Amino acid sequence: MNPPSLNNTPVWDDGAWRTLAPQASDLTTDVCVIGLGGSGLTAVSELLDLGRRVIGIDAADVAAGAAGRNGGFLLGGTADFHHDAGTAIGRARALRIHQLTLEEIGRIAAQAPGTVRFPGSLRIAESDEEFADCARQRDAMRADRMPVEDYDGQFGRGLFFPGDASFNPLARCRALAMSNVARGAQLFAKTRAISFSANEVVTDRGRINCDTVIVAVDGKLESLVPELAGTVRTARLQMLATAPTREIEVPCPVYARYGFDYYQQLPDGSIALGGGRDKSIDTEWTTENEPSLFIQNYLESVLREKIRVSAPITHRWAANVSYTFNGLPVLAEVRPGVWVLGGYSGTGNAVGALCGRAAAHLASGGTTEFARLLTEK
Ligand SMILES: Cc1cc2nc3c(=O)[nH]c(=O)nc-3n(C[C@H](O)[C@H](O)[C@H](O)COP(=O)(O)OP(=O)(O)OC[C@H]3O[C@@H](n4cnc5c(N)ncnc54)[C@H](O)[C@@H]3O)c2cc1C
Repeated sequence: MNPPSLNNTPVWDDGAWRTLAPQASDLTTDVCVIGLGGSGLTAVSELLDLGRRVIGIDAADVAAGAAGRNGGFLLGGTADFHHDAGTAIGRARALRIHQLTLEEIGRIAAQAPGTVRFPGSLRIAESDEEFADCARQRDAMRADRMPVEDYDGQFGRGLFFPGDASFNPLARCRALAMSNVARGAQLFAKTRAISFSANEVVTDRGRINCDTVIVAVDGKLESLVPELAGTVRTARLQMLATAPTREIEVPCPVYARYGFDYYQQLPDGSIALGGGRDKSIDTEWTTENEPSLFIQNYLESVLREKIRVSAPITHRWAANVSYTFNGLPVLAEVRPGVWVLGGYSGTGNAVGALCGRAAAHLASGGTTEFARLLTEK
Protein backbone atom coordinates (compact mmCIF):
# COMPACT_ATOMS: atom_id res chain seq x y z
CA MET A 1 0.00 0.00 0.00
CA ASN A 2 2.93 2.35 0.48
CA PRO A 3 4.62 4.10 -2.41
CA PRO A 4 8.06 5.37 -1.32
CA SER A 5 6.79 8.76 -0.08
CA LEU A 6 4.37 7.00 2.31
CA ASN A 7 6.92 4.47 3.49
CA ASN A 8 6.41 4.38 7.26
CA THR A 9 8.25 7.69 7.76
CA PRO A 10 6.77 10.05 10.36
CA VAL A 11 5.84 13.59 9.36
CA TRP A 12 8.32 14.81 11.98
CA ASP A 13 11.38 13.59 10.05
CA ASP A 14 12.98 16.42 8.07
CA GLY A 15 15.72 14.07 6.83
CA ALA A 16 18.48 16.28 8.24
CA TRP A 17 19.70 13.99 11.06
CA ARG A 18 23.12 12.34 10.81
CA THR A 19 22.96 9.17 12.81
CA LEU A 20 25.33 8.51 15.72
CA ALA A 21 28.18 6.03 15.32
CA PRO A 22 27.80 2.49 16.69
CA GLN A 23 29.82 1.19 19.65
CA ALA A 24 33.32 0.39 18.33
CA SER A 25 35.03 -1.29 21.31
CA ASP A 26 34.41 -2.71 24.79
CA LEU A 27 33.69 0.12 27.24
CA THR A 28 33.33 0.88 30.95
CA THR A 29 30.96 3.38 32.57
CA ASP A 30 28.83 3.97 35.67
CA VAL A 31 25.36 3.56 34.10
CA CYS A 32 24.34 2.07 30.77
CA VAL A 33 21.01 3.26 29.37
CA ILE A 34 19.39 0.95 26.81
CA GLY A 35 17.01 2.81 24.49
CA LEU A 36 17.44 6.38 23.25
CA GLY A 37 13.83 7.53 23.02
CA GLY A 38 12.54 10.44 25.08
CA SER A 39 12.56 8.40 28.29
CA GLY A 40 16.10 7.04 27.93
CA LEU A 41 17.48 10.40 26.81
CA THR A 42 15.89 12.09 29.83
CA ALA A 43 17.49 9.44 32.07
CA VAL A 44 20.86 10.17 30.45
CA SER A 45 20.42 13.90 31.02
CA GLU A 46 19.47 13.43 34.67
CA LEU A 47 22.40 11.04 35.24
CA LEU A 48 24.75 13.71 33.89
CA ASP A 49 23.19 16.20 36.32
CA LEU A 50 23.94 13.70 39.09
CA GLY A 51 27.59 13.54 38.04
CA ARG A 52 27.45 9.96 36.71
CA ARG A 53 29.33 8.63 33.70
CA VAL A 54 26.77 7.42 31.15
CA ILE A 55 26.71 5.32 28.01
CA GLY A 56 23.46 5.16 26.04
CA ILE A 57 22.80 2.69 23.24
CA ASP A 58 20.03 2.25 20.71
CA ALA A 59 19.45 -0.76 18.48
CA ALA A 60 18.42 1.57 15.64
CA ASP A 61 18.79 5.32 16.19
CA VAL A 62 17.77 8.20 18.45
CA ALA A 63 13.94 8.15 18.72
CA ALA A 64 13.61 5.37 16.17
CA GLY A 65 10.65 3.95 18.14
CA ALA A 66 7.44 5.58 19.36
CA ALA A 67 9.35 8.52 20.86
CA GLY A 68 10.01 9.93 17.39
CA ARG A 69 6.88 8.60 15.72
CA ASN A 70 4.00 9.72 17.94
CA GLY A 71 1.18 12.25 17.82
CA GLY A 72 3.16 15.01 19.50
CA PHE A 73 0.63 15.57 22.30
CA LEU A 74 2.04 16.65 25.67
CA LEU A 75 -0.90 16.12 27.99
CA GLY A 76 -1.10 16.41 31.75
CA GLY A 77 -1.71 13.21 33.70
CA THR A 78 -1.35 9.52 32.92
CA ALA A 79 -3.27 7.44 30.38
CA ASP A 80 -6.55 7.73 32.35
CA PHE A 81 -8.66 10.89 32.43
CA HIS A 82 -8.37 12.65 35.78
CA HIS A 83 -11.64 11.39 37.30
CA ASP A 84 -10.85 7.80 36.26
CA ALA A 85 -7.31 8.10 37.61
CA GLY A 86 -8.72 9.38 40.90
CA THR A 87 -10.97 6.34 41.15
CA ALA A 88 -8.17 3.94 40.23
CA ILE A 89 -5.27 5.27 42.30
CA GLY A 90 -6.76 7.79 44.73
CA ARG A 91 -7.61 11.44 44.22
CA ALA A 92 -4.58 13.02 45.95
CA ARG A 93 -2.16 10.72 44.17
CA ALA A 94 -3.76 11.32 40.76
CA LEU A 95 -3.69 15.09 41.35
CA ARG A 96 -0.02 15.18 42.32
CA ILE A 97 0.98 12.97 39.37
CA HIS A 98 -0.97 15.30 37.07
CA GLN A 99 0.83 18.33 38.51
CA LEU A 100 4.21 16.64 38.07
CA THR A 101 3.48 15.83 34.40
CA LEU A 102 2.62 19.50 33.73
CA GLU A 103 5.89 20.54 35.39
CA GLU A 104 7.71 17.96 33.27
CA ILE A 105 6.26 19.46 30.08
CA GLY A 106 7.88 22.75 31.11
CA ARG A 107 11.20 20.95 31.56
CA ILE A 108 10.91 19.28 28.16
CA ALA A 109 10.38 22.71 26.59
CA ALA A 110 13.44 24.08 28.39
CA GLN A 111 15.62 21.11 27.42
CA ALA A 112 14.73 21.21 23.72
CA PRO A 113 14.08 24.88 22.93
CA GLY A 114 11.86 25.61 19.95
CA THR A 115 10.25 22.16 19.77
CA VAL A 116 7.31 22.71 22.16
CA ARG A 117 4.17 24.88 21.78
CA PHE A 118 1.62 25.61 24.52
CA PRO A 119 -1.80 25.92 22.83
CA GLY A 120 -3.69 23.76 25.35
CA SER A 121 -5.68 20.74 24.15
CA LEU A 122 -9.29 19.75 23.48
CA ARG A 123 -11.18 16.63 24.51
CA ILE A 124 -14.16 16.24 22.16
CA ALA A 125 -17.16 14.03 22.97
CA GLU A 126 -18.64 12.04 20.12
CA SER A 127 -21.78 10.90 21.96
CA ASP A 128 -24.09 12.06 24.76
CA GLU A 129 -22.60 9.37 26.97
CA GLU A 130 -19.08 10.67 26.32
CA PHE A 131 -20.28 14.24 26.89
CA ALA A 132 -21.57 13.15 30.32
CA ASP A 133 -18.13 11.64 30.96
CA CYS A 134 -16.55 15.00 30.05
CA ALA A 135 -18.77 16.61 32.70
CA ARG A 136 -17.54 14.09 35.29
CA GLN A 137 -13.94 14.86 34.33
CA ARG A 138 -14.56 18.62 34.48
CA ASP A 139 -16.18 18.37 37.92
CA ALA A 140 -13.34 16.23 39.29
CA MET A 141 -10.74 18.63 37.92
CA ARG A 142 -12.54 21.71 39.26
CA ALA A 143 -12.86 20.07 42.66
CA ASP A 144 -9.07 19.69 42.59
CA ARG A 145 -8.61 23.30 41.36
CA MET A 146 -7.11 22.16 38.06
CA PRO A 147 -7.41 24.33 34.95
CA VAL A 148 -10.25 23.14 32.67
CA GLU A 149 -12.90 24.91 30.58
CA ASP A 150 -16.09 23.79 28.84
CA TYR A 151 -15.81 23.80 25.06
CA ASP A 152 -18.59 24.08 22.48
CA GLY A 153 -17.34 25.13 19.08
CA GLN A 154 -16.17 24.22 15.61
CA PHE A 155 -14.78 20.85 16.66
CA GLY A 156 -17.76 19.72 18.76
CA ARG A 157 -18.53 19.68 22.48
CA GLY A 158 -16.18 18.79 25.27
CA LEU A 159 -13.41 20.27 27.39
CA PHE A 160 -10.41 22.56 26.93
CA PHE A 161 -7.25 22.06 29.00
CA PRO A 162 -5.17 25.27 28.93
CA GLY A 163 -2.06 23.68 30.49
CA ASP A 164 -1.43 21.09 27.76
CA ALA A 165 1.13 21.41 24.99
CA SER A 166 2.27 19.89 21.71
CA PHE A 167 5.68 19.29 20.24
CA ASN A 168 7.74 17.82 17.45
CA PRO A 169 8.74 14.64 19.30
CA LEU A 170 11.57 13.70 16.95
CA ALA A 171 13.16 17.16 16.97
CA ARG A 172 12.92 17.16 20.78
CA CYS A 173 14.74 13.81 21.07
CA ARG A 174 17.42 14.77 18.58
CA ALA A 175 18.04 18.07 20.43
CA LEU A 176 18.24 16.24 23.76
CA ALA A 177 20.63 13.63 22.32
CA MET A 178 22.98 16.32 21.00
CA SER A 179 22.90 18.20 24.29
CA ASN A 180 23.66 14.96 26.19
CA VAL A 181 26.63 14.26 23.91
CA ALA A 182 27.89 17.82 24.37
CA ARG A 183 27.68 17.32 28.13
CA GLY A 184 29.84 14.16 28.04
CA ALA A 185 27.49 11.21 27.51
CA GLN A 186 28.63 8.54 25.08
CA LEU A 187 25.67 7.66 22.86
CA PHE A 188 25.72 4.93 20.21
CA ALA A 189 23.23 4.07 17.48
CA LYS A 190 22.94 0.69 15.68
CA THR A 191 24.02 -1.00 18.92
CA ARG A 192 21.58 -3.60 20.20
CA ALA A 193 21.59 -4.92 23.77
CA ILE A 194 21.57 -8.70 23.52
CA SER A 195 21.68 -9.46 27.24
CA PHE A 196 22.19 -7.48 30.42
CA SER A 197 22.80 -7.73 34.13
CA ALA A 198 23.72 -4.92 36.51
CA ASN A 199 27.44 -5.16 35.74
CA GLU A 200 27.47 -5.89 32.05
CA VAL A 201 25.53 -5.19 28.89
CA VAL A 202 26.39 -7.46 25.99
CA THR A 203 25.64 -5.77 22.69
CA ASP A 204 25.96 -6.87 19.08
CA ARG A 205 29.07 -4.64 18.99
CA GLY A 206 30.88 -5.59 22.20
CA ARG A 207 30.55 -5.34 25.97
CA ILE A 208 29.78 -2.44 28.31
CA ASN A 209 30.92 -2.85 31.92
CA CYS A 210 28.87 -0.78 34.35
CA ASP A 211 27.44 -0.58 37.87
CA THR A 212 23.78 -0.19 36.91
CA VAL A 213 21.59 -0.60 33.84
CA ILE A 214 18.47 1.38 32.86
CA VAL A 215 16.22 -0.19 30.22
CA ALA A 216 14.08 2.58 28.67
CA VAL A 217 12.06 0.79 26.00
CA ASP A 218 8.29 1.14 25.58
CA GLY A 219 7.28 -0.94 22.54
CA LYS A 220 8.12 -4.70 22.70
CA LEU A 221 9.25 -4.30 26.29
CA GLU A 222 8.06 -7.79 27.23
CA SER A 223 10.32 -9.29 24.53
CA LEU A 224 13.40 -7.55 25.91
CA VAL A 225 12.51 -8.07 29.57
CA PRO A 226 10.64 -11.41 29.86
CA GLU A 227 9.99 -10.75 33.57
CA LEU A 228 7.38 -8.21 32.41
CA ALA A 229 5.32 -10.61 30.29
CA GLY A 230 1.90 -10.45 31.96
CA THR A 231 2.55 -6.88 33.18
CA VAL A 232 2.84 -5.13 29.81
CA ARG A 233 1.47 -5.91 26.38
CA THR A 234 2.67 -4.46 23.08
CA ALA A 235 0.34 -2.71 20.66
CA ARG A 236 0.71 -0.95 17.33
CA LEU A 237 -0.45 2.67 16.97
CA GLN A 238 -0.84 4.26 13.56
CA MET A 239 -0.91 7.75 12.06
CA LEU A 240 -1.07 9.64 8.81
CA ALA A 241 -0.31 13.24 7.84
CA THR A 242 -1.34 15.53 5.03
CA ALA A 243 0.41 18.13 2.94
CA PRO A 244 0.25 21.66 4.41
CA THR A 245 -3.28 23.02 4.13
CA ARG A 246 -5.22 26.09 5.25
CA GLU A 247 -8.68 24.68 4.49
CA ILE A 248 -9.06 24.30 8.28
CA GLU A 249 -7.44 25.95 11.31
CA VAL A 250 -7.00 23.57 14.25
CA PRO A 251 -5.78 25.74 17.14
CA CYS A 252 -4.59 22.95 19.43
CA PRO A 253 -4.31 19.14 19.69
CA VAL A 254 -7.72 17.42 19.64
CA TYR A 255 -8.42 14.18 21.50
CA ALA A 256 -11.72 12.59 20.39
CA ARG A 257 -13.71 9.40 21.04
CA TYR A 258 -12.19 8.84 24.50
CA GLY A 259 -8.77 9.51 22.98
CA PHE A 260 -9.00 6.68 20.46
CA ASP A 261 -8.68 9.31 17.70
CA TYR A 262 -6.39 12.31 17.91
CA TYR A 263 -5.14 15.02 15.59
CA GLN A 264 -3.33 18.31 15.49
CA GLN A 265 -2.26 20.86 12.90
CA LEU A 266 1.46 21.48 12.61
CA PRO A 267 2.93 24.97 12.20
CA ASP A 268 3.23 24.45 8.42
CA GLY A 269 -0.50 23.60 8.19
CA SER A 270 -0.18 19.79 7.85
CA ILE A 271 -2.72 17.70 9.72
CA ALA A 272 -1.25 14.78 11.73
CA LEU A 273 -3.97 12.28 12.66
CA GLY A 274 -3.77 9.02 14.59
CA GLY A 275 -5.92 6.46 16.27
CA GLY A 276 -8.51 3.85 15.37
CA ARG A 277 -6.81 1.08 17.36
CA ASP A 278 -10.14 0.07 18.88
CA LYS A 279 -11.60 -0.47 15.41
CA SER A 280 -9.50 -3.61 15.01
CA ILE A 281 -8.25 -4.28 18.50
CA ASP A 282 -7.16 -7.90 17.95
CA THR A 283 -4.91 -7.12 15.00
CA GLU A 284 -3.40 -4.10 16.80
CA TRP A 285 -2.09 -6.13 19.76
CA THR A 286 1.00 -6.85 17.73
CA THR A 287 4.74 -6.25 17.62
CA GLU A 288 4.47 -5.48 13.89
CA ASN A 289 5.17 -1.84 13.21
CA GLU A 290 4.12 -1.27 9.61
CA PRO A 291 0.90 0.64 8.81
CA SER A 292 -2.08 -1.62 8.01
CA LEU A 293 -4.62 -1.04 5.25
CA PHE A 294 -7.64 -1.38 7.57
CA ILE A 295 -6.56 1.22 10.16
CA GLN A 296 -5.16 3.56 7.51
CA ASN A 297 -8.50 3.43 5.65
CA TYR A 298 -10.28 4.24 8.91
CA LEU A 299 -7.95 7.21 9.58
CA GLU A 300 -8.50 8.43 6.05
CA SER A 301 -12.29 8.31 6.57
CA VAL A 302 -11.92 10.39 9.77
CA LEU A 303 -9.75 12.89 7.91
CA ARG A 304 -12.14 13.26 4.99
CA GLU A 305 -15.56 12.87 6.63
CA LYS A 306 -15.15 14.19 10.20
CA ILE A 307 -12.35 16.73 10.03
CA ARG A 308 -13.30 17.48 6.42
CA VAL A 309 -9.78 17.92 5.10
CA SER A 310 -9.16 17.09 1.45
CA ALA A 311 -5.39 17.75 1.29
CA PRO A 312 -3.32 14.85 -0.06
CA ILE A 313 -1.89 12.35 2.41
CA THR A 314 1.90 12.51 2.42
CA HIS A 315 2.85 10.24 5.33
CA ARG A 316 1.56 7.01 6.84
CA TRP A 317 3.39 5.40 9.72
CA ALA A 318 3.14 3.15 12.76
CA ALA A 319 5.12 2.24 15.87
CA ASN A 320 4.86 0.03 18.95
CA VAL A 321 4.06 1.01 22.51
CA SER A 322 3.20 -1.13 25.51
CA TYR A 323 0.15 -1.00 27.75
CA THR A 324 -0.22 -1.92 31.41
CA PHE A 325 -3.40 -3.16 33.02
CA ASN A 326 -3.74 -0.35 35.60
CA GLY A 327 -2.84 2.61 33.37
CA LEU A 328 0.27 3.36 35.43
CA PRO A 329 3.73 2.92 33.91
CA VAL A 330 6.30 0.34 34.92
CA LEU A 331 9.26 1.64 36.94
CA ALA A 332 10.87 -1.33 38.60
CA GLU A 333 14.18 -2.98 39.49
CA VAL A 334 13.51 -6.24 37.68
CA ARG A 335 16.94 -7.71 38.40
CA PRO A 336 19.43 -6.40 40.99
CA GLY A 337 20.87 -3.19 39.53
CA VAL A 338 18.65 -3.31 36.42
CA TRP A 339 15.92 -0.62 36.36
CA VAL A 340 13.20 -0.86 33.72
CA LEU A 341 10.73 1.80 32.62
CA GLY A 342 7.95 1.66 30.02
CA GLY A 343 4.32 0.66 29.63
CA TYR A 344 2.90 4.17 29.16
CA SER A 345 -0.37 2.90 27.65
CA GLY A 346 -0.16 5.25 24.67
CA THR A 347 0.70 8.47 26.51
CA GLY A 348 4.42 8.33 27.26
CA ASN A 349 5.78 11.70 26.23
CA ALA A 350 5.60 13.49 29.59
CA VAL A 351 5.23 10.43 31.84
CA GLY A 352 8.17 8.71 30.11
CA ALA A 353 10.39 11.70 30.84
CA LEU A 354 9.30 11.62 34.50
CA CYS A 355 10.09 7.90 34.62
CA GLY A 356 13.48 8.48 32.99
CA ARG A 357 14.32 11.14 35.54
CA ALA A 358 13.16 8.89 38.38
CA ALA A 359 15.16 5.92 37.06
CA ALA A 360 18.33 8.03 37.02
CA HIS A 361 17.88 8.76 40.72
CA LEU A 362 16.93 5.19 41.61
CA ALA A 363 19.99 3.93 39.72
CA SER A 364 22.11 6.32 41.79
CA GLY A 365 20.78 5.29 45.19
CA GLY A 366 18.15 8.05 45.48
CA THR A 367 14.53 8.48 44.50
CA THR A 368 12.02 11.12 43.38
CA GLU A 369 8.54 12.14 44.43
CA PHE A 370 7.17 10.66 41.20
CA ALA A 371 8.84 7.31 41.90
CA ARG A 372 7.35 7.27 45.39
CA LEU A 373 3.88 8.12 44.01
CA LEU A 374 4.08 5.28 41.50
CA THR A 375 4.99 2.66 44.05
CA GLU A 376 2.52 3.82 46.75
CA LYS A 377 -0.09 1.20 47.60
C1 LIG B 1 1.47 6.54 16.69
C2 LIG B 1 1.71 6.89 18.14
C3 LIG B 1 1.12 8.02 18.65
C4 LIG B 1 1.35 8.37 19.99
N1 LIG B 1 0.92 9.58 20.43
C5 LIG B 1 1.29 10.02 21.65
C6 LIG B 1 1.00 11.33 22.05
O1 LIG B 1 0.48 12.15 21.28
N2 LIG B 1 1.34 11.72 23.33
C7 LIG B 1 1.98 10.86 24.17
O2 LIG B 1 2.27 11.25 25.31
N3 LIG B 1 2.34 9.63 23.78
C8 LIG B 1 2.03 9.18 22.55
N4 LIG B 1 2.40 7.95 22.13
C9 LIG B 1 3.17 7.11 23.06
C10 LIG B 1 4.61 7.59 23.16
O3 LIG B 1 5.11 7.83 21.87
C11 LIG B 1 5.50 6.55 23.84
O4 LIG B 1 4.91 6.10 25.03
C12 LIG B 1 6.86 7.14 24.18
O5 LIG B 1 7.36 7.87 23.09
C13 LIG B 1 7.83 6.04 24.55
O6 LIG B 1 9.14 6.56 24.52
P1 LIG B 1 10.33 5.72 25.16
O7 LIG B 1 11.54 6.53 25.04
O8 LIG B 1 9.92 5.28 26.51
O9 LIG B 1 10.41 4.37 24.34
P2 LIG B 1 10.59 4.05 22.79
O10 LIG B 1 10.14 5.14 21.93
O11 LIG B 1 9.95 2.70 22.63
O12 LIG B 1 12.15 3.97 22.60
C14 LIG B 1 12.88 2.83 22.87
C15 LIG B 1 14.16 2.83 22.06
O13 LIG B 1 14.85 1.63 22.44
C16 LIG B 1 15.43 1.07 21.30
N5 LIG B 1 15.62 -0.37 21.58
C17 LIG B 1 14.69 -1.34 21.61
N6 LIG B 1 15.26 -2.54 21.92
C18 LIG B 1 16.58 -2.28 22.11
C19 LIG B 1 17.70 -3.11 22.41
N7 LIG B 1 17.59 -4.43 22.59
N8 LIG B 1 18.91 -2.52 22.51
C20 LIG B 1 19.06 -1.18 22.33
N9 LIG B 1 18.03 -0.38 22.01
C21 LIG B 1 16.82 -0.91 21.90
C22 LIG B 1 14.48 1.38 20.17
O14 LIG B 1 15.16 1.39 18.92
C23 LIG B 1 13.94 2.74 20.55
O15 LIG B 1 14.63 3.80 19.92
C24 LIG B 1 2.16 7.55 20.83
C25 LIG B 1 2.76 6.41 20.29
C26 LIG B 1 2.55 6.08 18.96
C27 LIG B 1 3.21 4.85 18.39
